[in-house]
Amino acid sequence: MSKYIIAIDQGTTSTRAIVFDHSGNIVSSGQKEHEQIFPKPGWVEHDPMEIWTNTREVIGNALSKSNLTRHDIAAVGITNQRETTVVWDKNTGEPVYNAIVWQDTRTQPIVDELAADGGVERFKKKVGLPLATYFSGTKVKWILDNVEGARAKAEAGDLLFGNTDSWVTWHLTGGTEGGVHITDVTNASRTMFMDLETLSWDDEILAAFDVPRSMLPEIKSSSEVYGKVHTAQLLRETPVAGILGDQQAATFGQAAFEKGGAKNTYGTGNFLIVNTGEEIVRSQNGLLTTVCYKLGDAKPVYALEGSIAVTGSLIQWLRDNLGFIKSAPEVETLAKSVEDNGGVYVVPAFSGLFAPYWRGEARGVIVGLTRFVNKGHIARAALEATAFQTREVLDAANADAGVDMEDLRVDGGMVANDALMQFQADILGIPVVRPKVTETTALGAAYAAGLAVGFWRDTDELATNWSEDKRWLPQMDTAERDRQLRLWKKAVTRTFDWVD
Ligand code: ADP
Repeated sequence: MSKYIIAIDQGTTSTRAIVFDHSGNIVSSGQKEHEQIFPKPGWVEHDPMEIWTNTREVIGNALSKSNLTRHDIAAVGITNQRETTVVWDKNTGEPVYNAIVWQDTRTQPIVDELAADGGVERFKKKVGLPLATYFSGTKVKWILDNVEGARAKAEAGDLLFGNTDSWVTWHLTGGTEGGVHITDVTNASRTMFMDLETLSWDDEILAAFDVPRSMLPEIKSSSEVYGKVHTAQLLRETPVAGILGDQQAATFGQAAFEKGGAKNTYGTGNFLIVNTGEEIVRSQNGLLTTVCYKLGDAKPVYALEGSIAVTGSLIQWLRDNLGFIKSAPEVETLAKSVEDNGGVYVVPAFSGLFAPYWRGEARGVIVGLTRFVNKGHIARAALEATAFQTREVLDAANADAGVDMEDLRVDGGMVANDALMQFQADILGIPVVRPKVTETTALGAAYAAGLAVGFWRDTDELATNWSEDKRWLPQMDTAERDRQLRLWKKAVTRTFDWVD
């Protein structure tokens, strides 16, 4: 019996391959960043070919670091940046355009056009999402409307659409030589095209978007054998057996299997997910309704989600655009060089505002500037922005669920930042808890794949792998917390109605 599972985490900034053992511990990993392409303000693209090349490279690195071969690997799990849209030619395997990334706002005119008839909540009852640039639907439409010859090819049945899970799976399983064109329910639930109740593509919505059904991948569960890795690849013959969108994968990796279980991931953006069990809960407070996971033939499990577009990427912006720091972790030292935020609030509405506001026209602001303010205050305010935004989506989740969360399980790149985690506990007023394995996204994908091939028995067994590493307790007094929150909310209003 093979002793390990490999997870491929095709993320926004990098692609990782991580080998896990039966206890859910990391055995070895490979990671490679890919280029972020910003052709115009608001546009964000990736090169799908670079992503596929990197995927193969990181698999090789992860295996060779621990002297493993395909015979040691029981299954492959895949997790991915959700919504990011790839359209490719099934005969050549070539993308017809770069991948349009989830943060990209170029499709706002398409959103406005579709919303003119019925408003942004036009399809929300069916798909759980408001019309927004964030989701794949308008991005596919943009490619068909703007890339020369694309629509005719799509109508002839020559083009395939997918998020990066589909893109990687198609190539891994053979590409033009019989690659499977599939996605899982969690990724499908982010397109705008899937009916949450039937878990199938909706023809009425496809007609409204003018997207041919033949382009779409087949929707599968999150945990089943979809196919085997093609003989030309390093992992040849290994079953590809699990797919979960990154945030759902992190929820799975945090062992939040039960109704009421929740996690918050701090990466490029922040994503709070609350498991709502077999019930489809419609948010009254600006959250999304999405699929949490579906294991084989079992019933789907749903979730509420608070998506925040910009958190870690604000730190990247301080590094790359303003040159305040040389590396992301340095932001902690800079923020600690001052006692407090000096009255400064940064609201990073770079892609408009996502949850709970959903304002595509909003743009970022730095407010409260005086002659006193220095780099340290701005760095501190940038970190604090992550915590304030999280507080707002947690309030929305508590309101929708009707019960208050008692603590918050966290993961993602930013949870290494101790000052941020303490401030987060202070601003939430509940403990913040970090698990031992913080690569929960990859772990969740490994779990989904391992369950499908019998490497793990059931979710109860997985839950015993979870263990706590660190807990931050709230220390701020209530009056100060309320004051800070009031100022934050005031700062948010300053971002509204900016685009003319
Ligand atoms: P993703 O999976 O979205 O690519 P990660 O979970 O790898 O993201 O997290 C990377 C993000 O975390 C980056 O945006 C980076 O700016 C931020 N980050 C990494 N380390 C720190 C740190 N010590 N303090 C603050 N932000 C950090």
